[in-house]
Amino acid sequence: MDGKSIQSTGARHFLVEPLRSTTAVIKFSGTLGSRVATDGLSGTINAFAHYAAQWFAASRVFCDLQGSFHKSAIETAFILFDPMTHSINGDSGPGDHGVDGLQAFIKAHKCSQHCKRLALESKARLRSSAKATAEGDGLDWPEDD
Ligand SMILES: [Zn+2]
Repeated sequence: MDGKSIQSTGARHFLVEPLRSTTAVIKFSGTLGSRVATDGLSGTINAFAHYAAQWFAASRVFCDLQGSFHKSAIETAFILFDPMTHSINGDSGPGDHGVDGLQAFIKAHKCSQHCKRLALESKARLRSSAKATAEGDGLDWPEDD
């Protein structure tokens, strides 16, 4: 925390995750890209990221998605931890690359079969939603390659 106490940061909200039972981490996406994998878990996480982007009209996307299997006496669950977001204004927290991050997410996303089964919006629709919001806020949308 850069040598600051919690009180001096002004932070009022915290998320706490359960103690992980393993150090094995599966990474699905990085800050500005995503892993292309076709297994069921990767496809599910990939569809979650697409669904969240659609939910936010592509003005916010999740990135740096990673997680671990957590085994307890009752069940085995997969827990995502330490995600980051990109947002239109680039003010969602550390690693937020603003419109460049949104564009990178949309460009790198490869729809899984889950995206298709859920009939999620096309990447072109996500791009036009994000671009319209950015331009409505007076921000330039980066040119596509
Ligand atoms: Zn998708």
